Amino acid sequence: MAECAVRITVLGSGTSTGVPTIGCHCDVCTSADPRDKRLRPSILVSYGGHHVLIDATPDFRAQALRTGFERLDAILFTHEHADHIMGLDDVRPFNFHQRARIPIYASERTMAAIHAAFRYVFDGDEKGTAIPQLDSHTLNGASFDLFGLEFTPIPLLHGKAAIYGFRFGNAAYLTDHSEIPEDSLDRLRGLDVLFLDALRYKPHPTHSTVDRSIATAGRLAARRVFFTHICHDLAHARTEARLPPHIRLAYDGLEIEVEGARA
Ligand SMILES: [Zn+2]
Ligand SMILES: [Zn+2]
Ligand SMILES: [Zn+2]
Repeated sequence: MAECAVRITVLGSGTSTGVPTIGCHCDVCTSADPRDKRLRPSILVSYGGHHVLIDATPDFRAQALRTGFERLDAILFTHEHADHIMGLDDVRPFNFHQRARIPIYASERTMAAIHAAFRYVFDGDEKGTAIPQLDSHTLNGASFDLFGLEFTPIPLLHGKAAIYGFRFGNAAYLTDHSEIPEDSLDRLRGLDVLFLDALRYKPHPTHSTVDRSIATAGRLAARRVFFTHICHDLAHARTEARLPPHIRLAYDGLEIEVEGARA
């Protein structure tokens, strides 16, 4: 396959509650900076006319309408927390328009949790109403090809839970994690674009922090780093002013072209 451009669109850069947070009147939740308005965390990976979604958030419908993509070719799940899966029912319009089922990919545990959370989608009973049409593919950690681009699951620790990030070409998306195992670090060399969880400054048992992710960025020496899964402790402009120039905060709607994407 010829080299093809890969574009990443940030659909959501916020933590599980989103920012603003319901009932909060802090300076970030009331900020006029549009970059301080963060839907739940997800990216869209677009290449060769295909669109691959990583995580289907509770904001998925709003994210799809705002971004304007009208095809959805596959969904990858990092893990089963509600902020990463609860938009799954809203993929139905893509089934209608494309007249096709959509493949979904997740680890065995995450897939089981998705099947439990959306039992009506997977139980095989006749519904007489429209449900998502999905084909489940369980990941065992091996790389897999989607429409000519190789995706590699990257094991991460999210507190005690083993979850996946994903590398594709010269980019990697590592949301929710508190630790990156050594073996996984070895699979993250030579990146042009690296997304890292950076919830806030204060330590958290299941998430990385700004300082921890700055250290990770230094170890991996990715050319461009974007922090995501951000809570209302971090004002966009104020936080970026304290970061090295190659590390930025992701924001909803940000589009990034990955250099040297793939052959
Ligand atoms: Zn999350
Ligand atoms: Zn707030
Ligand atoms: Zn999580």
